[in-house]
Amino acid sequence: MGSVGAKEVPVLLGPDGRRIDGRKVDELRPIAITAGPLHQADGSAFVEWGQNKVMAAVYGPREVHPRHLQENNKAIVQCRYNMAAFSVDERKRPGLDRRSQEISKVIAEAFESVIFVEEYPRTSIDVYIEVLQANAGTRCAGVVAASVALADAGIPMVDLVPAVAVGKVGDAVVLDLKKEEDNFGSADLPMALVPQSGRLVLLQMEGHLSRDELARALDLGVVGCRKIYEVMKQALRDRYRTDGPGPAAEGMAA
Ligand code: ADP
Repeated sequence: MGSVGAKEVPVLLGPDGRRIDGRKVDELRPIAITAGPLHQADGSAFVEWGQNKVMAAVYGPREVHPRHLQENNKAIVQCRYNMAAFSVDERKRPGLDRRSQEISKVIAEAFESVIFVEEYPRTSIDVYIEVLQANAGTRCAGVVAASVALADAGIPMVDLVPAVAVGKVGDAVVLDLKKEEDNFGSADLPMALVPQSGRLVLLQMEGHLSRDELARALDLGVVGCRKIYEVMKQALRDRYRTDGPGPAAEGMAA
């Protein structure tokens, strides 16, 4: 442990280049995805990724509520990202705070750009993301879960949308930050990708990266997204096998 002022800062990168949980800089946390675990929703998915546990449920296309939000030439995409009170170490105040509203908005916009919304005018496609356990990267886990849930609901999209956060700890650009790395690292860059075209549909950044580091972070994120994409597709394949859903899983280096 090093220390900065009164705050204890864990050693985030060892002399062997390994991270706090033993991962290499380009290694993802283990990820497992189950498609279709909820029977009441039109589509659903459960993602366990590191210590994150995130459920997504999708409804629609269905009637728009409230009515005045209806668009005559396309479906609207509404998203609600919510963190359960018990999802973090200290109880989180329940309800939609500013952070949840921001995350809901950027996720809705990401999906609006990949769903064929023109095919369903005057309807709503509603995406619910419930974070049951949080350990950094929950918006990315939410995008992954929602994407598989949308596919499970049969909503036509240009592609599935894998997502991952990249960041900087010590001098290193690293893939898929966990909580300590998010808290004590110097940059956090969540991103979501359309794999076929390489188009980014979500890109946010907190902290500082040089131009070179940003380029490296984006490259690392794209490779990470492509790995996650394979797990997402496998989850959907498993869903439609006759022996029912089971988690598609992988623990891997990008
Ligand atoms: P993301 O989960 O997408 O990385 P943030 O960077 O905002 O989003 O949050 C990082 C992590 O900080 C979360 O995954 C969670 O573990 C923790 N966190 C976020 N909000 C709260 C909160 N209100 N109380 C306690 N921990 C929180």
